[in-house]
Amino acid sequence: MQTYECDIVVVGAGPGGSMAAKYAALGGLDVILLEKRAEVGSPLRCAEGVSKKWLEEIDVKPDPAWISAEMDGAIIVSPSGHKFKLDESHAGNEVGYVLERHLFDKALTEQAGKAGAKVWLRTAATGAIVEDDKLVGVYANRMGEEIAIRAKCVVAADGFESQMARWAGLDTGLDLKDLDTCIQYRMANIDVEPNYCEFVLGSAAPGGYIWIFPKGDGKANVGIGVQGTKCKLGADPKHYLDKFIAADPRLNKGTVLEIVAGAVSTCPGIEDATADNLVVVGDAARMIDPITGGGICHACRAGMYAGKVLAECAKTGDFSKGALKPYEDMWRDRMEDKLWRNWMAKEKFATLSDDVLDSLVLAIKDSDIEEVNVYNLLKVIKEKYPEIVEEFEGMI
Ligand SMILES: Cc1cc2nc3c(=O)[nH]c(=O)nc-3n(C[C@H](O)[C@H](O)[C@H](O)COP(=O)(O)OP(=O)(O)OC[C@H]3O[C@@H](n4cnc5c(N)ncnc54)[C@H](O)[C@@H]3O)c2cc1C
Repeated sequence: MQTYECDIVVVGAGPGGSMAAKYAALGGLDVILLEKRAEVGSPLRCAEGVSKKWLEEIDVKPDPAWISAEMDGAIIVSPSGHKFKLDESHAGNEVGYVLERHLFDKALTEQAGKAGAKVWLRTAATGAIVEDDKLVGVYANRMGEEIAIRAKCVVAADGFESQMARWAGLDTGLDLKDLDTCIQYRMANIDVEPNYCEFVLGSAAPGGYIWIFPKGDGKANVGIGVQGTKCKLGADPKHYLDKFIAADPRLNKGTVLEIVAGAVSTCPGIEDATADNLVVVGDAARMIDPITGGGICHACRAGMYAGKVLAECAKTGDFSKGALKPYEDMWRDRMEDKLWRNWMAKEKFATLSDDVLDSLVLAIKDSDIEEVNVYNLLKVIKEKYPEIVEEFEGMI
């Protein structure tokens, strides 16, 4: 078996992996970034909605090449159809761009390559190399050939279905209630507001929501995420999405150009995102926002933190769990409270009836909310319906 050596092997060239590879390479490390697919970012498994602010945080400049549409605001729709429209001044930075996600992912991988990382496509990690109880690399299949890659540290950035961290002995298991299954249609010939992201709440999407994210020119990503344990009609999100589309005159004559299926975790992040010679980032570490299902910015941030910490560890050659602690501290300081708060809010919202959700949307509509984000929405709910948020009011 051919054996390769490097400082860091990163498994998965999604946003998390590419950012980790970029920053480790910028720190002077010899990095190999593995991607099992033949093309970065394809097939698409995303609604492509992101806010704006965080791009600055990860030092990525917005590029028209990967921005499909810029949003002016958001519309929240209650179960019985009350609409709460937030214009740009209120939509703030929570609603920002609808991406060309495959091009965004490619741009990040390109940056990793420019920083010096080697990018190997059609190379799937297949197992952990463990010697004397120590993780020392990964086995992989590179275009049909079984290979071994020995490294000082492994980054598990292999997404929602992550196996790498598990192979290395970490528990990344999910409770069924912390998993939303999703389906999305890329639709054309529809008539939705071109610059507003729409979120539909209630029993139309049990335990989740329906989204309409415009892509310009009469096109949009129309999708749904549902919590399987809440679905009376089984965990089949397609049934709910088709029903919603059939009843909506703006959509029901549209053409479906692409179908996307996938799943998101809706839990607060894994207990340990590091072990000796191992760092876990992004969806693999369950860093998706449990309410919105958005995980691109969290994966990018975590990847950047991981890459920077790996570069520091290289100075002493120590990649033990203790030496990697700054990574745990960085991602937890920046994201963990929000993940916990939104997980608790998700748990609560999944129990609310359509009537209560209607009242909440009306309460938000009447408020003078300054900028839409989950935190501010929860603050309004806390003022009007404190009983709904009492279990986590200290976090609001
Ligand atoms: C239907 C849907 C809609 C979504 N909509 C949004 C949204 O609008 N906004 C948002 O912010 N987030 C959204 N998300 C979540 C978002 O897509 C993820 O949070 C984000 O992609 C996480 O990035 P990542 O780098 O951790 O993982 P991924 O992007 O999943 O990247 C992991 C990579 O690892 C590769 N890989 C896996 N196994 C191996 C292996 N063994 N060897 C080599 N490579 C491997 C995969 O091919 C993949 O390229 C959505 C998710 C779904 C499912």
